[in-house]
Amino acid sequence: MTVPTAAAAPSNPTSVALDFSASRRGPRGKPPRHFVDLTPEQRVQAVTDLGEKPFRAKQLATHYFTHLTADPAAMTDLPRASRDLLVADLFPQLLTAARTMQADGGTTVKTLWHLFDGAKVESVLMRYPNRTTLCVSSQAGCGMACPFCATGQLGLTRNLSTAEIVEQVRAAARSLADGEVPGGPTRLSNLVFMGMGEPLANYKAVMETVRRLVAPTPDGLGMSARNITVSTVGLVPAIEKLTTEGVPVTLAVSLHAPDDELRDELVPINTRWSVDETLDAARRYFDVTGRRVSIEYALIRDINDHAWRADLLGEKLNARGKGWVHCNPIPLNPTPGSKWTASDPAVEDEFVARLRAHGVPTTIRDTRGSDIDGACGQLAAEEDE
Ligand code: SAH
Repeated sequence: MTVPTAAAAPSNPTSVALDFSASRRGPRGKPPRHFVDLTPEQRVQAVTDLGEKPFRAKQLATHYFTHLTADPAAMTDLPRASRDLLVADLFPQLLTAARTMQADGGTTVKTLWHLFDGAKVESVLMRYPNRTTLCVSSQAGCGMACPFCATGQLGLTRNLSTAEIVEQVRAAARSLADGEVPGGPTRLSNLVFMGMGEPLANYKAVMETVRRLVAPTPDGLGMSARNITVSTVGLVPAIEKLTTEGVPVTLAVSLHAPDDELRDELVPINTRWSVDETLDAARRYFDVTGRRVSIEYALIRDINDHAWRADLLGEKLNARGKGWVHCNPIPLNPTPGSKWTASDPAVEDEFVARLRAHGVPTTIRDTRGSDIDGACGQLAAEEDE
């Protein structure tokens, strides 16, 4: 199939057909350029390139980031011809909701998105009494091949663009603002990069996303960096780079084993960067940012849930000081076809107790949405019917 590239702006803007089809492509099969991919300066340039006044960039940013809309009909402070032209060029539709599923009385919502090229990703919105958290995907599929993770079995399809990630966030924030999630209209407070993909393997787009999320409105969503969690298998050079960015996001490291022998199997990238190298990088992240690091640990029955491993983990964390880290064990969500299952509750309790005995603050992570395959590590976009 040949796919037309984005047409140049026609001379008569009133005749612009809004092209919301999935057929527009950017160069080399990349998603088409979107307003959100641009810096504030580039937005002004893009707007003036279309023959519009520079201040239109600010108006568009306000609609997008403050009112959470890219619908020209809502942009009543712009002349109709201008908004149609600008939206057609700068706001290509990047995500199409193919399916939504709800759990927990509607307070957990999983959305399956189709991207412009047919790639599929998922995001999960969770409302709690005092916060709302969106779990976003940063890649279609994942190349890290962790054997217990559903996405890890898919392999990597491609990186998402900044706008493809931010659009997941805008959709969730808009849904919350519109009161679609039970509990009344509210704001999106927290974001975790714990959907499909390894965020630090798509470093540039993920960092640009974070910058859009924390930029004050109307240039961004005005979220707090500390409420954004970047979760990684432990790509040490990327953690080191993140340490220098001056954006104090929360870093979560998916450890899952304190010893290299087992971690080599559970998190294969460990053969490249060992447990000790990963923990050293995490500790440096805390030193520079002051942000306490989270250690993620999926408890897998008879695989990594032994008391001696809890002790070894406690020792390795303490060897790097106190107060810099906390632990988030989570019972494994078994994925289809996996030979592994969650730890016995008594074993889980013992594991947590051992960590606490070492003075490591430890909280079991919740497994919301497991009945809609929306829980951690269960995201694996469905095949076409
Ligand atoms: N690639 C990143 C982020 C995506 S996964 C990372 O690995 O950190 C988000 C979290 O879910 C990670 O801690 C991951 O190890 C965990 N996870 C994956 N599969 C899981 C499963 N089946 N049960 C419980 N947690 C799982």
